[in-house]
Amino acid sequence: MKKIYMDYAATTPVDPEVLKEMQPYFCKQFGNPSSLHSYGQKARKAVESVREKIGQFLNASPDEIVFTSGGTESNNFAIKGIAYANKERGNHIITSVVEHHAVIEPCKYLENQGFEVTYLKVDKNGFVNPDDVKEAIKDRTILISIMHANNEIGTIQPIAEIGKIAKERGIYFHTDAVQTFGHLNIDVDEMNVDLLSASAHKLYGPKGVGFLYIRKGTRIIPFLHGGDQERGRRASTHNVPGIIGLGKAVELARKKMKEENVYLKRLRDKLITGVMRKIEETILNGPVVDEPESSDKRLPNNVNFGFKYIEGESLVLSLDMKGICASTGSACSSQSLEPSHVLLAIGLPPEIAHGSLRLTLGRYTEEGDVDYVLKVLPEVVSRLRSMSPLYRAGRDG
Ligand SMILES: *Cc1c(COP(=O)(O)O)cnc(C)c1O
Repeated sequence: MKKIYMDYAATTPVDPEVLKEMQPYFCKQFGNPSSLHSYGQKARKAVESVREKIGQFLNASPDEIVFTSGGTESNNFAIKGIAYANKERGNHIITSVVEHHAVIEPCKYLENQGFEVTYLKVDKNGFVNPDDVKEAIKDRTILISIMHANNEIGTIQPIAEIGKIAKERGIYFHTDAVQTFGHLNIDVDEMNVDLLSASAHKLYGPKGVGFLYIRKGTRIIPFLHGGDQERGRRASTHNVPGIIGLGKAVELARKKMKEENVYLKRLRDKLITGVMRKIEETILNGPVVDEPESSDKRLPNNVNFGFKYIEGESLVLSLDMKGICASTGSACSSQSLEPSHVLLAIGLPPEIAHGSLRLTLGRYTEEGDVDYVLKVLPEVVSRLRSMSPLYRAGRDG
């Protein structure tokens, strides 16, 4: 059976060109960038050229890029690093209720350490209102952290506007751009961000590598203490093959991004329209796409539905048996009984949040895959509903 992967928001396959670029750095050019000899110099040069490439891509300077082990580390670094370095200025942090766990959990940790965190609410499509950010600011506010785009429902936040507010008030602004780096245009000056997190495995690079952009002059404490790698900001021997892979992924993104987005948006909209037409009692979670303006406020590859009378986990498992790999915001995906905090935050009643399905498309998604999903999904939903007492009661009544 052909497998259809529609979970690109969870991770992406490594692009073969990325792998090819990485390969020599395992067995041949294995040097430690901190070594003085030629092996070391060669590795260092390669790492520095990636730093430059990323800097250019973001309109940042290379020494504002610090390599990390990925999105989770970058978020932890940004949030804890700013909090501890600026605690004499204040102890208040502003974030939102729809952030990734890699932002929410460090914030909760800091609450236990005596910091105060405001979790801003969002509207029914998942948007943070910049006026709410303005209103939440206190004299003691030292950091605002709002994600660029949501990994579950694809909402793209008004980052530039929020950044402007932060800038005017002299407050550091961090954005988790793990879902957008390498997918949307990012200019750290236009977006007014001081810190930005990214991760290679969300853009066809390897897992376990990413970076944190830190604007020059930002007061932050190092995340890992040890050697003086990354100019003392992040100790540990560089993940050279990983960084090389990230660099190649960025180069490919730069070339392909624009065209890929046109393609993905078309498939996304086809999937949304098709499913909404074919399956009754279905909700599109996240921003609507029927007008050009709103369409651009949703990630080009993100689709998320709520199906009434269905349990998301059974749906995902049933689809997997048909060769379709998707994800749900329901229950045990997070090993708790609570449905996704994001779906609850946009006001879905728990029973609909439990029946959610996320399909995220990517570089290797074919039109035929979308057609196959449009054929199989209605059948599966209908079968699962026929087993639901609530659904049957609705029919019979
Ligand atoms: C995947 C993801 C992360 C975590 O990144 P890792 O590199 O897997 O640690 C953080 N934030 C968002 C929005 C993500 O999608």
